[in-house]
Formats: sequence, structure tokens, C-alpha cells
Amino acid sequence: MIAALMPNYNRAEIAFEHGQGSYLFDSSGRRYLDFGAGIAVSALGHAHPHLVRAIAEQAGRVIHVSNLYRIPQAEHLAQRLVAASFADSVLFCNSGAEANEGLVKAMRKTMADAGSPEKYRVICFAGAFHGRTLAMIAATGNEKYLAGFGPKTEGFDHVPFNDIAAVRAVITAQTAGVLIEPVQGEGGMRPARLDFLRQLRVLCTEAGILLGLDEVQCGMGRTGKLFAHEWAGITPDVMSIAKGMGGGFPMGAVLARERVARALVPGSHGTTFGGSPLAAAAGNAVLDVILAPGFLASVDDTARHLWRGLEALARQHPGVFTGARGAGLMCGLQCAVPNTQVQKAALDQGLLTVAAGENVLRLVPPLIVSRAECDEALALLAAAAQACAPAMAEATP
Ligand SMILES: *Cc1c(COP(=O)(O)O)cnc(C)c1O
Repeated sequence: MIAALMPNYNRAEIAFEHGQGSYLFDSSGRRYLDFGAGIAVSALGHAHPHLVRAIAEQAGRVIHVSNLYRIPQAEHLAQRLVAASFADSVLFCNSGAEANEGLVKAMRKTMADAGSPEKYRVICFAGAFHGRTLAMIAATGNEKYLAGFGPKTEGFDHVPFNDIAAVRAVITAQTAGVLIEPVQGEGGMRPARLDFLRQLRVLCTEAGILLGLDEVQCGMGRTGKLFAHEWAGITPDVMSIAKGMGGGFPMGAVLARERVARALVPGSHGTTFGGSPLAAAAGNAVLDVILAPGFLASVDDTARHLWRGLEALARQHPGVFTGARGAGLMCGLQCAVPNTQVQKAALDQGLLTVAAGENVLRLVPPLIVSRAECDEALALLAAAAQACAPAMAEATP
């Protein structure tokens, strides 16, 4: 007999009943410090009063009307995203994969409208993750996600991460653009070098192709700036966001420069649910908090505090951790023992984390996390490391 809830996940035997700030509580009342944030989604933590009120009030007025009508809440959110970014126009959708689908469609259509429909290929990177739709598993390129799902969607070329010569070498007359995560998430919390992002920007401009960024995980304040590419001082032509933008309400978006945005004329692309009054209310409430004066600076400050602790932790437990990597509050601990073992030991201590590629333990707390909560997480991680340590391998503190 199969479970009624399709068993496509290996779930931990815990169900949470409610949350408060950076904490979740299970049905027995046990408290967990949430450094997974629902896979980098719960940007404002749990039960944030401003987000709760915005969603409740909007739900009481109207939840959904469809994109056949004007949606003032979505117009307002789009205007705010445009004002805060490189973008001239914003398309709303419902998830990260759907945002990336829209991004790639917009790239291809931009080229087709410019008289070059043969330019449809997109360059992606080893270690990438772009989602689970048929096209996005091809963009991701990881055999683990492609196996058994039939012919791979055409049009994606893969090159090593952080290797500008490899990108240059793979550009052909059929290339429409590049799609890259400024900080790879699922692949193992690997940041692109800032000079690589700058070289990529120059190369795309010179080659007449589009630079697309997947900021589904690293965007919306996660790295201490609103968008991760700001650290490199570059601007893309088009960008996808999702995870944190609704604070847990499912939504995504494609942010585009005018030339790219103009390609998606009425009838060319759409979504039934995207940018509903309820989703936009959630997105606006999240932006209210993230764009409040001092908020991103405090994310950056808290992240630096956490990083100092993580680096010390890795030094103190060389038998368990070999290093720390990532950016801002998108942190990864490279493990010397299986990351799932450390994840389980952390869970036993009351700390929620997420596994990532390359045997990395991912720490992606809510952006509202405090320094004291980071210290608590570090202590729980130290206890978890003790529990997983191969005997004798621990350094004396
Ligand atoms: C999570 C993620 C996606 C996919 O988002 P879904 O909402 O699960 O479709 C795409 N790209 C990146 C970088 C992600 O982290």
C-alpha cells in the first residue's frame, strides 16, 4: 500500500504545529531553532505579525481574480521591485522553476523578435540547480534529476563554474544567453567569484547574448544585499527570484530589462495564479520589512557574526567539518562525515538544517535571526559535531 501523500520525499518524523520568529514547535511542544527556514523561504521567520496581518486582511477582501483584470497590489509590488533593482518590468509566477521557465522563454523570444530565432541555446553551469520542470532539469543538467524522465529538453550547454574561458569557448551562433546562480545553493553553497561575474557581464555584452541570473535562493536579502549580484557591481538582463519573496507564501518573479520584457507580449506567456492579490500582499509585506532602513545592513552584520563562529567551529571540529562557504545568511559547512549524519545529529540537538550538494550542511536561517540565535545554533552545531566526531579527530579547543 502506498501512502496517500506521494512518497517522493524522505521526510523526518516530525510535524510542526506552530512557529514563532526563528523557532518552530512540534506537536509535543518541543522547540527547534530553524536554520533551514523551509529551504531558505521563511525570510521573516514564523508568524511575523506584519506578514500575518497583510495576508489575513487581503484574504478577507479578495484572494484571487486572475490576470484578466488589473491587480493594484501586484502593480505596486512590481513598481517597488523595479525601483530597487536593474529591472524595468516584472512578471509574477508561483515558484522558482516557473520563474526560470519564464526567464528562458523571455531570452529565446527576445532573440526571435530580433530576427534570430536560431539563437535559443542557454549556457548553464556544473553544480547548478534551476528547478524540476522538464526544461529546468535539463538546465540543471544533473543526471540524478534527469534519469527516467525521457529525452532531455534541448538547448542547454554546461560548462564548469567560475571558468570564463569555458563560457567563451561554448558560445556559438545559436546562443541566446547565460543562466547562472550568483551563489549556487542546492549544488553546495558555492559563490561565483565576483570577478567571474564581472567577466561574464562583459562577455555577454560583447557576444550580444543575454545575462540571466537565477537568484531564486540567493536573492531577496539572503546575502545581505537585496540581490546577490549587487556584490559584484553588475546588472543582468533578466533575473528570476522566488523562495524568500513571499515569506512562505508561494510566489516567484522574472525581473527584466525593457528589451527582454517587451518580448512577452499578450498571449505569449502567462499564469493563472501568478501575482494574485494575496500573493502580492505577501510580497509587499516582505518587502516592507526587507527594505526598511537598516534591515539589510543588520542581515549583513548578523551574517558576519555567524561566519566568524562557523569558521571557528570548523577549526575546532576538523574530523567533522572541513570548512565553511557561502555568502551572507546562505552558509554551508563542508562535512568530513556524511552531511546527513550531521543534519540528524543537529536535529537531535533541536537545530533544523538542510543538506546540500558536495556533502555540505546548509544553514539558511530567517533573515530576522539575531546574533544570540546564531550563537545558540553554533553551540548546537558544536554538540552535534561532538556526537558525530570520529574518536580522536577532535582538536583540543
Ligand atoms: C529552489 C530553487 C529553484 C526551484 O524553485 P522551486 O520553487 O522549487 O521551483 C530554482 N533555482 C534555485 C537557485 C533554487 O534554489
